[in-house]
Amino acid sequence: MKHAWRIGRLAGIEIKVDSSWIIIFLLFTFSLAAFYFPQAFPVSSHSFYWLLGLITSLLVFASVLFHELAHSVVARKQGEKVEDITLFILGGVARISEELKEPKKEFYLALAGPVSSFILGGLFLLLSSGLRNISHPVQVISAYLAYTNLVLGGFNLLPGFPMDGGRVLRAILWRATGDLKKATRIASSVGQGIAFLLIFIGLVEFFRGNLGGLWLVLIGWFLHSASVQGYSQVVLKSALQDLKASDLMDRNFISVNPELPVETLVHDYILKKRERVFLVTDQDVFLGLVCLEDVKKVPHSRWPELKVSEIMTPVNKVVSIRPEANGDEVLNSLVNNEVNQLPVLEGGRVVGIITRTDLLRILQLRTDLGI
Ligand SMILES: [Zn+2]
Repeated sequence: MKHAWRIGRLAGIEIKVDSSWIIIFLLFTFSLAAFYFPQAFPVSSHSFYWLLGLITSLLVFASVLFHELAHSVVARKQGEKVEDITLFILGGVARISEELKEPKKEFYLALAGPVSSFILGGLFLLLSSGLRNISHPVQVISAYLAYTNLVLGGFNLLPGFPMDGGRVLRAILWRATGDLKKATRIASSVGQGIAFLLIFIGLVEFFRGNLGGLWLVLIGWFLHSASVQGYSQVVLKSALQDLKASDLMDRNFISVNPELPVETLVHDYILKKRERVFLVTDQDVFLGLVCLEDVKKVPHSRWPELKVSEIMTPVNKVVSIRPEANGDEVLNSLVNNEVNQLPVLEGGRVVGIITRTDLLRILQLRTDLGI
């Protein structure tokens, strides 16, 4: 979601609107103004229909926001960090830091959204039935919002991960089996099943002449990729949590002298040893790191005159990690600092180096072995 605008803060949480949301907002407003309201109030003006359409459409998305806020408030109560809430073409999404700790927390966090939608739907239902005997815009809008919120709550309760219902299912399975990976795998398979069903129903509807079917296809397709991605994230996370930096590091790293010409580094080290990163040390003192990227920054013609110490990343700028840090921290450190390698330091001495390639290779091997 690259093009998102901030529209304000609610309960201390930043609210954003993605550019794709404009499409669904216009579609909603249009279908309400062109079809729904002319049917509800046959003798009225176009500008009146558009006004009601606009108001109702805004309230629909306020309802979506309310649903996401419910998730966010519960998440914050549980001590999780909520980054922001973004409205986009398929609804809303709250970015909550995914530190999975217990099934019980996940259960309540997931349930909070649909429950809030049901409560809101119920309130609108009460309002509309209180005004039942008058054909008043407030009555018609309330009835519409009651229906929308109940559908929103019900749809999100479908038990396919990563929808709310799928998260509830995963929490129950997780609690029952004690195995997060297995629970996620099952809930994600149900998610993929529901996704295919939505795509199928959507296509049938479309070929029966109902354009809205395409919407279901889009939602199903989105759900399918989210299910698959959600599962692989959990696999990756659990694989990383079992590993320590000391398991991931390469102990056979090569050190070079700071006085070494870059030309020699390229020919005698990078090309001969087929390594991309070298430690720069002088009599066992760690001075910095030099890697392929540093070499690429200087033109070939200057390789003979430049020394390693002139192109290396000096020790005070090197991002390092402790041997006991877990795989999750290693990955975060590589990604957040935008580096390709991390020296592992113990008592000021380098004991190993972790590169992105090593990390991926080990994860690949573990996945292949099913451990
Ligand atoms: Zn939800």
